[in-house]
Amino acid sequence: MRYIIYARKSTEDENHQVLSIESQLCELREFAVKEKLEIVASLCEAKTAKEPGRMKFAEMLSLIEKGKADGILSWHPDRLARNAVDGGKIIHLIDKGIIKSLKFPTFWFEPTPQGLFMLQIAFGQSKYYVDNLRENVTRGMRQKIRNGVWPLWAPLGYLNNPITREIDVNKEKMSLIKKMFRVYSSGNYTLKEISEWCKKVGLKSNLDNDISTGQVQATFQNIFYIGLMKYKGEVFEGTHKPLISKKLFDKVQEVLKERGRSQKIKHNFAFLGLMKCPCSAAITAEKKIKPSGKEYVYYRCTKKKGPCPEKHFLREEALVEQIKDYLQKVSLSSQDTEKVLVELKKDESKAKEQTKMIVQNLKKELLEIETKLEKLLDVYLAEVISTEEYTARKQKILTRKLELQERIRDFEQKGLSWLEPAREFVLKLNYAEKLRKSENYQEMKTFLKNIGSNHILQNQKLIFSFKAPFNLAAEPRSGEAENLTYPKVWT
Ligand SMILES: [Zn+2]
Repeated sequence: MRYIIYARKSTEDENHQVLSIESQLCELREFAVKEKLEIVASLCEAKTAKEPGRMKFAEMLSLIEKGKADGILSWHPDRLARNAVDGGKIIHLIDKGIIKSLKFPTFWFEPTPQGLFMLQIAFGQSKYYVDNLRENVTRGMRQKIRNGVWPLWAPLGYLNNPITREIDVNKEKMSLIKKMFRVYSSGNYTLKEISEWCKKVGLKSNLDNDISTGQVQATFQNIFYIGLMKYKGEVFEGTHKPLISKKLFDKVQEVLKERGRSQKIKHNFAFLGLMKCPCSAAITAEKKIKPSGKEYVYYRCTKKKGPCPEKHFLREEALVEQIKDYLQKVSLSSQDTEKVLVELKKDESKAKEQTKMIVQNLKKELLEIETKLEKLLDVYLAEVISTEEYTARKQKILTRKLELQERIRDFEQKGLSWLEPAREFVLKLNYAEKLRKSENYQEMKTFLKNIGSNHILQNQKLIFSFKAPFNLAAEPRSGEAENLTYPKVWT
């Protein structure tokens, strides 16, 4: 019998009287010598056995399954498994005779039905122990919550009192927290600015870290500050002292909601990623606040590719104006779109009619050719023409036959293939018209990318080349502009 030594101790075991991994290994090796057990591997794990998914445990089982070992030597069954999945795996492998032996210095085990039963109880007991522990902890927390005492770490501005086990106000931070709520309730600051303000006034987290934007938001949303507590989705009344009035708290919630809405539009620069600078660097955007308090978005070169000749910024409003001019060039009013679609429909029926006639004619010719071929054969059989002549004529007729068959196939299969793209194109032109009248910047960007390429912001002007077929609409040749010629161009 070859054994694998398995030792485990997780950091959570610290308080319990569990041997350290080193001591476990020591004891197990001594035990192995005494019992004359052959050891092929020693595996240690510093992880809890409450959850499945331990690496070394899995490695051990795979070694045994591959026949590299026959049994396991461990300090106690609870070192092997403390959850039903892993316990079940061990028992299953014993059942199938893959694990032939289990040895524990502290626990007697034999692979008999009685032994398995005992083992199951041993694993079960560990599970019971774990469940019990968890339940005790939860029960303790629930009890505390019901008594109005926050059972976890105190939020910013409060302290855990280790003696009374209650939550005290942090006198040093109290006034700063109050000020933070007041400042933000004015609606003039972003969460980021509040986070920077915290840094400036030296307000740090309970673990003495800088307060992030996310933490600022979490603080503003924490009902703990008005004397309530939310635990696992349930709201409880707390015995701790509230720092913020309900009125101020509600105002802050309003500002959060309001800014959350407007920030999305203001800070999500719509046309980023669309344009490049002539110097080949990307165009970036930034928000500026005028002395009047009005905010503007500007687009400019990032200047990340060396010297750049561009000196000016372009305001978003001005950019949108230019974009709308471009959209105008490729836009078709709904009324005209209707007309074109009707024309297309007519074209379609006309084309269908024409195709039908062409195909009919082709088929007629094909039939004639068949007859010709038959006649040719008759003539040849009557020995009117020579074999060479017959072969040459036949070759000619057959070539024509193939040609005809191909053309018929073409007409029947893709005779009207231009119609669908033409219709789509017209609808896109109409979409440009609708977009032009909207303020949907995001869609404008997508559309511009679709209809053009090489978008450049040069000297405060957006320039790009239209892709086909939009170039036909945008740069109509003289005389064509007035007519609804798009489908004709397509054909
Ligand atoms: Zn540049």
